[in-house]
Amino acid sequence: MMKTSKMDNNTEKMKVLIVDDEEDIRDGSARILSRINYDVLKASRGEEALEILEKEKMPIILLDLKMPGMDGLEVLSKIKEIDKSIIVIVITGYATVETAIQAMKQGAYDFIPKPFEPEQLRIVVNRAKEKLLLTWETEKLEEARKRTLLDLNTEKSRTRTIIEYIPNGIVVTNASGMVVLMNPAFVSAFAAGLEQKNDAVIDYYINDKKFCELVMAVSKGEILDTGDYEISMPNEKYYLSKGKSIISEENDCLGAVMIFVNVTAMKVLDRLKSEFVAKVSHELRSPLSTIHEQLSMVISDETEDEVEDQHILSRAKEKTEGLIALIGDLLDLSRIESGSMIHESRPVNIIELLKSIVDFLSTKAKNRGQTIDLSILNTEIPNINADPIALESIIGNLITNAIKYTPDNGNIFVISDFDGKNIVIKVSDTGFGIEEKYFSRVFEKFFRIKNEKTRFITGTGLGLPIVKNLVDSLKGSITVESKPSEGSTFTVTIPLI
Ligand code: ADP
Repeated sequence: MMKTSKMDNNTEKMKVLIVDDEEDIRDGSARILSRINYDVLKASRGEEALEILEKEKMPIILLDLKMPGMDGLEVLSKIKEIDKSIIVIVITGYATVETAIQAMKQGAYDFIPKPFEPEQLRIVVNRAKEKLLLTWETEKLEEARKRTLLDLNTEKSRTRTIIEYIPNGIVVTNASGMVVLMNPAFVSAFAAGLEQKNDAVIDYYINDKKFCELVMAVSKGEILDTGDYEISMPNEKYYLSKGKSIISEENDCLGAVMIFVNVTAMKVLDRLKSEFVAKVSHELRSPLSTIHEQLSMVISDETEDEVEDQHILSRAKEKTEGLIALIGDLLDLSRIESGSMIHESRPVNIIELLKSIVDFLSTKAKNRGQTIDLSILNTEIPNINADPIALESIIGNLITNAIKYTPDNGNIFVISDFDGKNIVIKVSDTGFGIEEKYFSRVFEKFFRIKNEKTRFITGTGLGLPIVKNLVDSLKGSITVESKPSEGSTFTVTIPLI
């Protein structure tokens, strides 16, 4: 192909090479063609013509068949070897008509018998030029067509790739509701383990009568849009589906396209949120109604007894304290869980810390005739780099619980140890104990064991979840061992680093 020799908008002159041993013919032809806007080059011998061709592309060549040196036909075949698309017009005398025919057979485009009129030359060369321009135009169109096809192809494969990799399920049905396309996300959600069928309708994959009727209707064009439809699967997975009819340019319904979004995580979160709100509302409502009732009694002065009033007011105060504690715990927990609790780590002497907490809580224990015994098994405990408020909250909560859930005159033991890597703190009591089935549940938010012994003990059910979260933030662990009526031991292990 002579791409570079192609002319743009006919503004560039077309090149013609005249190969003839007769100077007059060469010059005369060059003059005629130059006048009608050709860029003419001349060669007196075949070899010279081929040399020019090596350097430059020549779309049209006028070639004399009878020349000294290389024979015209040989030159012709060499030209065609170099570039088949070169238009060769042979110039020949009457005596060599047969050779001219031979030349035509070898791919020459036309021939001009010698001697020729200028007009003859102009016609033949212009015709060759027209043919060339036409050929180039066709090639250009063909290239454009190929490019469009290629673009279409890449567009198609791009769309296919998107459909394949999209995390949402996609299904296309035909006008009779048959599934004609499904992407891998749909297959893994609804067709895993099912034999693939060519003529299956949607109810083969999804066991939901109302939904399948909707898909049928939208596939047939009876309705154009399914709206949002929630599908619940037996494996507790939830999908939100939406579908639309596919309408052709002629306004026929060709089928439908359905999309399936996995909304399981959202549903679970929603449920947890509702549970949480229900629990919090419950925890807030009962003390608030008690306070309300008691205050109403005092205000209406139903009791007419100051001592009784005082009693009611102190009960109300107790309840408000409980509420304030609950709100405090809730805030603490949400701060810990959201990671917005600021932990300011600094070296903490755990023995000193334990001593001061035990000292502080001893009064509370003493009021109930209980003792708190602190044992330091390893006095060589190095300072731990941690937030002292977090450590205080962990130990304080565990000892407070031990006091709360141990009857009067019981005993509480706080033991600390260091195994070379971890600080181990045990808080034991001789209290009510915990049944084994509740060992992990006591760390759940709002979980409280309600039985005869604990019924009158107030609490929020948030102490141990807070402790667990704080221990986690220190990369430690917490376990519980207990026997009902014998006592419980909570063990906290915190690594030094
Ligand atoms: P709260 O004490 O406010 O109820 P916690 O989260 O601290 O909440 O504890 C959850 C539950 O675990 C308590 O309601 C109680 O039933 C049980 N529990 C906690 N500590 C002890 C303990 N030392 N002995 C017996 N039961 C306990």
